[in-house]
Formats: sequence, structure tokens, C-alpha cells
Amino acid sequence: MADARRFDIVIVGAGPAGLTAALYAGRNMEHAVLLESKAPGGQLLNTELIEDYPGVKSILGVDLAQVMMDQATGFGTELVSAEVEQILVHDDGLKTVRTSVGDIVAPAVILTAGGNPRKLEVPGEVELAGRGVSYCAVCDGAFFRDAELAVVGGGDAAVEEGIFLTRYASKVTIIHRREHFRAQGLLVDEARHNPKIEFLLDNVVDSIDGDDLVKSVSVRNVQTGEKGTVDVGGVFIFVGFLPNTGLVDVHIDHDEAGYYLTHPMTMMTSVPGIFAAGDVRSQLTRQISTAVGDATTATIAAAKWVEEWKRGRIEGDADLVEDVVEDRE
Ligand SMILES: Cc1cc2nc3c(=O)[nH]c(=O)nc-3n(C[C@H](O)[C@H](O)[C@H](O)COP(=O)(O)OP(=O)(O)OC[C@H]3O[C@@H](n4cnc5c(N)ncnc54)[C@H](O)[C@@H]3O)c2cc1C
Repeated sequence: MADARRFDIVIVGAGPAGLTAALYAGRNMEHAVLLESKAPGGQLLNTELIEDYPGVKSILGVDLAQVMMDQATGFGTELVSAEVEQILVHDDGLKTVRTSVGDIVAPAVILTAGGNPRKLEVPGEVELAGRGVSYCAVCDGAFFRDAELAVVGGGDAAVEEGIFLTRYASKVTIIHRREHFRAQGLLVDEARHNPKIEFLLDNVVDSIDGDDLVKSVSVRNVQTGEKGTVDVGGVFIFVGFLPNTGLVDVHIDHDEAGYYLTHPMTMMTSVPGIFAAGDVRSQLTRQISTAVGDATTATIAAAKWVEEWKRGRIEGDADLVEDVVEDRE
């Protein structure tokens, strides 16, 4: 640990959650560092237009990333371009964050490493992303009023989002590679009774087709081999989301899908001094606004944690929550 740089708070990942954490840390004059392995912005950089971030009527993902980045670093939080490789938790509460540019030591770590929608990995998917291919119904559904859409997947997300998309679309075809759904029966029932939804079961998507915009998907029946085409204006893919977890060397409580469980009042995980915000956290929805809200809470709680840890007064979540409540009284 001799050559390691020391901070009070290390923020891992500069998407909307990490940039918000950096903003709050900087403005509150915490000694914090923000680590990012790619360009700052996270999933915003893969998003065309954002119309549901309060206070901004309509903005390109890259532009929002730039504004968030300028604002975050403007208050003094250092941004370091580095890949976090591992986080070691020591008995005294300190953490060593191993990165591609060396070790950093701090008592508090905020995990904001986000995640990525799982890809279908078919021709056309990458080329037409943001041009009819989407991974987020809440974000992009409104761009497809009266269009015919395809939804790919068979879990809760696919069926739920398929139902959601019927608010806008004239027809939604749910394409699933099996005959039976993994999604809850009630959801599947609701979809079956929705006059705008059709099912294409036992079918896989071989390619997503179109020149500048999505025009159709090519499908294949896995039982018979029969090929077909479904004409659609958009394809929503829900075949899973991969949270960027697994960096920490000790167990952190998580849900069945691997997302970190956090205390609702502090965003602290089951490991004292490790907080999680944004898409790595177990929650109902994954949006920019939720990531930003989580990170605000996490940063304020992390600062409090550090203060108390320095006084040697804190051990776990219960102590921190008690402290936060006392402060509000
Ligand atoms: C196509 C698409 C469109 C969307 N549209 C909208 C929309 O219109 N409105 C909306 O509210 N939401 C939208 N979302 C969802 C929204 O983008 C996410 O909820 C939000 O970006 C989550 O923010 P985050 O900071 O938690 O994670 P991310 O944005 O995923 O950022 C995580 C960051 O951590 C970095 N990182 C990961 N691992 C490491 C490591 N080991 N070391 C260093 N850095 C690391 C990553 O490079 C990344 O920059 C969309 C998502 C997608 C994919």
C-alpha cells in the first residue's frame, strides 16, 4: 500500500451515477476520485435522443454526457482514466482499489459501474442500434407511435415491455425461441389478452434488416427450420442485462440476477463502506433519473461514513442509518 494514492471516496465508473457522485463529492469538498475505463458517459453514449430526463426537454445522449461531465469535474473531483481490476476489503475498513494505473486506497467506495443489455448478436443489430433497434421500452417507446414492433425475449422484461409498448405501437410481435415463457404466468396471460400483441414462438431472429432504419426481422422456426420475415419499424431486445459486478474480493449480497442489494436510506451494500448506485443496484427500473438519485444518496451517505469511520465510531449499515436519522432530528 506504500505507493498507493489515498482518497476518502473512490467512485467506480463515470456513467450518470458516477458523474453525479463526482458532482456531489466535489461540491461538498470531499477528497474523491472518479475512475473510468472508457469515455465518460456510460450508456448515454449509446443513446440517440433522451426525452425523459426531467429539466431537459430533449437532448442527445452524447450531449447530456458532456454536460454531466463538465458539471461533475467543474467542482474539483479528479477524473482518472483507469480500469478498475479488483477491490480488496481490509479488516480495518479500508479498501484497496486495484486499477490499470496503480492502487488507490480509501475507506469508502461507490460502485457505479453500470452494465450492458445482453446483445442478440445477429447481423444488423449493431448497425441499426438507435435506428429502430432498442433495449429500453420506457426510453424509446414513444418514438414508435402507430408503428409495428417486434420484441425479442421470453422473460418478464420482454413480456412486460411488450405490453408497455402497446401504448404506442399498433402491433407488437413477441418473438421467443421457445414454446413456453420464462415470464410469470400472469404477465403472459395479460399479453395473450392484449389485442395488439401477437406471439411468434419457437422462433429465433437471424438478422435485423433495413438500410438506414429497421424495416424487418428475419426469423427461423427452431423446430421446422422454416424461415420468414416480419415487417416492423422497430425491434426491442430484452434477452438479459449484465450488471458490471464482481470486482470486489468479498461477498456482497445481491438479488437472483446479480444486482447489488442496498439499504434504501443510504445505498450501502452489505459490505460496510461500499455503496452502489445506478444500474448495478437491485431496483424496479434502470433509468438516468434513478441512477442520478441513487448516486446523490450514496455520496452523501459515503461522506458521512468516512467522517464516522475516521472517528472510529462506525461498523455497519445500522450505525450509519442511526447516524443519518439523528442528524435529521
Ligand atoms: C440504448 C439505451 C437507451 C437508453 N435510453 C434511456 C433514456 O432515454 N432515458 C433514461 O432515463 N435511460 C435510458 N437508458 C438507461 C440509462 O442509460 C441507464 O439507466 C444509465 O446510463 C445507468 O447509469 P449508470 O451510471 O448506473 O451506468 P452506466 O451508464 O452503465 O455507466 C457505467 C460506467 O462504468 C464504467 N465501468 C464499468 N466497469 C468499469 C471498471 N471496471 N473500471 C472503470 N470503469 C468501469 C463503464 O465504462 C461506464 O462508463 C438507456 C439505455 C440504453 C442502453
